[in-house]
Amino acid sequence: MLHAFSYVAPRSLDELLAFLSSHGDDTRVFSGGTDLFVNIRSGLVSPQYVADLKTVPGLREISFTGQEGLSIGACATVNELLAHETVCERYPVLRIAGEELATLQLRNRATVVGNIVTASPCGDMTSPLLCLGTDVVLVSARGERRIPLGEFITGVKTTQIAADEIVSRLIVSTDRIDASGGYRKLKRIKGHDLGVVAVALVRAANTMLVAISSAAPTPVLLPEFDARTPVAEIQKSAQAAISPIDDVRCTSEYRRFMVDVYIRRLMEEVPA
Ligand SMILES: Cc1cc2nc3c(=O)[nH]c(=O)nc-3n(C[C@H](O)[C@H](O)[C@H](O)COP(=O)(O)OP(=O)(O)OC[C@H]3O[C@@H](n4cnc5c(N)ncnc54)[C@H](O)[C@@H]3O)c2cc1C
Repeated sequence: MLHAFSYVAPRSLDELLAFLSSHGDDTRVFSGGTDLFVNIRSGLVSPQYVADLKTVPGLREISFTGQEGLSIGACATVNELLAHETVCERYPVLRIAGEELATLQLRNRATVVGNIVTASPCGDMTSPLLCLGTDVVLVSARGERRIPLGEFITGVKTTQIAADEIVSRLIVSTDRIDASGGYRKLKRIKGHDLGVVAVALVRAANTMLVAISSAAPTPVLLPEFDARTPVAEIQKSAQAAISPIDDVRCTSEYRRFMVDVYIRRLMEEVPA
């Protein structure tokens, strides 16, 4: 049975932040709810209040400017990201990875920000966003702060977010705009499934960025490589950076093996 909670529908950002400054410890905010309500149902979390971000105006926007980059609002769904012209044309790795996240129906609810805040080692949006260079914007009644995504996620399902804060948006830099990219995800079945291990690769000008999911407590971004770096050198760097576990879905040995396979395939597939 679903744990009893009070549903809160704030009419403005100020109202939400004022509520969180007094009830933050007892509240979970949500947008798609595809992670939160699974966790409530399974008893992993039992908040007294759940606050709906979708009733707050202005949190759903996806926009782009040449100065700032791509801004992805807290309530923008994965399908809205995939349908966005600038994303498709100028940040192709986000589209390729986003299409791997669950099913079309789920992506109509699931948000990009919810995927990041969940901070699952296998979250499909984290690795491509790490490769592109992304900041997380947090707001509370105390003010606003901006943290690089790699620092925001601190461990398995843990982040730097405080009880009175929300993520208002993500900002993807223009550093790797128009860069080609690819994403490879190992699943147990051919249909939709959580990633057993996944690799994102972005090729910009003379550089290459590689990030790996489900192979360490947090997604791992490797140091930037020169575009001519041999595949063996990148594989060696990846193997030193990851620390995969054995679990019901896969052995650590097979995860390591597939990381090398995906790096090689992506380097062959993604145009320079
Ligand atoms: C059947 C199924 C299949 C799935 N398959 C995949 C998959 O293939 N790949 C994958 O990566 N994920 C998958 N997921 C997980 C999930 O759908 C994604 O992580 C999704 O992107 C979460 O977004 P959401 O808006 O639903 O998050 P929510 O459930 O609304 O929120 C998730 C968490 O983040 C917090 N939160 C949300 N938004 C904010 C905010 N703006 N500020 C602060 N905290 C916030 C919530 O309190 C909660 O703890 C799957 C889930 C289900 C149920």
